[in-house]
Amino acid sequence: MGHPSVKDRIEHTRFATPWVPEPVETTLKVRYAVSLLIAVCLSLMAIVIGESWNSRQYHLRDSEVAMSNLAQTLASQAHASIKQADTLLFSLVDRLEIDGMQPEKFPRLQRLLQAQRSELVQIHGLFVFDEEGRWLANAINVIPPNANNSDREYFIYHRDHPDRGPHIGPSIKSRSTGEWIMTVSRRINHPDGRFAGVVVASIYLKHFLDLYNSIDMGNNGVINLISDDATIVVRRPFNEADIGTSVAKGPLFTQLLPKGDSGTATVRSFVDGVMRVVGFRRVEGYPLVVFAGLDKDEVLASWRQESIFSAGIVLLLLGFLGALGYRLIRLMKQQNHIQNNLLETQDKLIEVNRSLELLALEDALTGLSNRRQFDLFILAEMGRARRSQTHLALLMIDVDHFKSFNDHYGHLAGDECLRKISTIITENIKRPGDLAARFGGEEFTVVLPGTDYVGAFLVAENIRRAVQQAGIEHVGGVEGVVTVSVGVCAYDPASQAQPDDIVGAADKALYVAKASGRNMSVIAN
Ligand code: GH3
Ligand code: MG
Ligand code: MG
Repeated sequence: MGHPSVKDRIEHTRFATPWVPEPVETTLKVRYAVSLLIAVCLSLMAIVIGESWNSRQYHLRDSEVAMSNLAQTLASQAHASIKQADTLLFSLVDRLEIDGMQPEKFPRLQRLLQAQRSELVQIHGLFVFDEEGRWLANAINVIPPNANNSDREYFIYHRDHPDRGPHIGPSIKSRSTGEWIMTVSRRINHPDGRFAGVVVASIYLKHFLDLYNSIDMGNNGVINLISDDATIVVRRPFNEADIGTSVAKGPLFTQLLPKGDSGTATVRSFVDGVMRVVGFRRVEGYPLVVFAGLDKDEVLASWRQESIFSAGIVLLLLGFLGALGYRLIRLMKQQNHIQNNLLETQDKLIEVNRSLELLALEDALTGLSNRRQFDLFILAEMGRARRSQTHLALLMIDVDHFKSFNDHYGHLAGDECLRKISTIITENIKRPGDLAARFGGEEFTVVLPGTDYVGAFLVAENIRRAVQQAGIEHVGGVEGVVTVSVGVCAYDPASQAQPDDIVGAADKALYVAKASGRNMSVIAN
């Protein structure tokens, strides 16, 4: 088991270094902070975009429901209005077919029509035409001379179709009053089933338009009443040119109605190209469809405003967050920079400290340990020897007649001589646990842990002989060369001896060697 080296021991006696923060993965910390900042910003944006999208879908869905409900209500209204007129026609046809259409019955029929017309506000007129299209009776009390309606769509339809159901014709401008009307008509048969004429109820388009205009549909909303053959019967906003227009190629007839009798969608208008959120429904029992739609842009206007507002707030927040993060990261970088500098300085400081310590424990002239290091070392080694009950020996070496060497060769030569002797001493102590020190002046000391006085004496003799054999000229010295005298002392671990005691004992032995003629080693008793 070897002794720790002198250098190791010096390490142990090193001065405490000042506190410096632990080295940390500084760039990693900054990267985490940047990642966190980006994650927070992205999450915030994702949340706002998601919320905004949901709100948009909600707005659209809300309008679809409203349009669906509106289409339902208006379909019921159309049904009720037309049904009332159609019921009249039905009973009129029944009566005409049973009673016959002789001219003497016309005045009574005329009165009946007038009475019935005044009951229903939506009815513009009630007409009976014979098989040639001539006016037989009507509810407006004036028959234009030579009036003939055989060219009207409803007349041609009933003449050519034997079915007895109600027919809704395209909207027209009344020949009698110039008003826009729609017509509901039924066919009258002769008893043998031949065509006998047509009864017609004309209904004011105004009746529908008044209602449609009273509904808030925004600036660009539409309400259409469309017949099954895809022609527009009434349209809000009202434009004469639109009446009778075919929308057969529009989305209602190409996409929506094939899928069902009612529904909702977002589609581009065939008439004006506007994108609308729409609801539609067939009118029960009649070949009509109600179609109501709000301008999608108008539907989303409030949503757009909300979104712009919240986007503004979020942008502000992001800007604030970004600025804060930027500052924070810059501070972190600065701090890291300072910390790195501090660590570098600390390393340098430790290095300087170590050199200082070595200097403080080293003898400048010879490079051996100095007196201070010797004192610390002997104290520590004696403690260790006591604890492990091992030997420890000490040599005290003094150059003979050195005063006269100085006097004769000069002080510088004296210094050189001391350096040579110290080299010789170092060369003669072999174990790494041994310590050679300059005790002071031209006196050296060697500490030999784990060595008894016999071993120590051998080392002393080796040194003494080596110095003599080095043959450093000294006219006033023993046999003309530089020599040393050595006092040897061994420490008994069982004793209570202190460093001073064994230094004193070695000194005494040295004195004996001097007194006995010098150039010799003496063991203390
Ligand atoms: P002795 O044999 O009895 O030891 O005789 P000495 O002349 O060596 O007597 P002493 O020990 O009293 O003399 C010590 C001399 O060593 C005094 C001084 O001139 C010289 N000396 C002490 N330190 C140094 C040093 O660092 N350099 C030099 N050149 N000389 C030193
Ligand atoms: Mg001396
Ligand atoms: Mg001397």
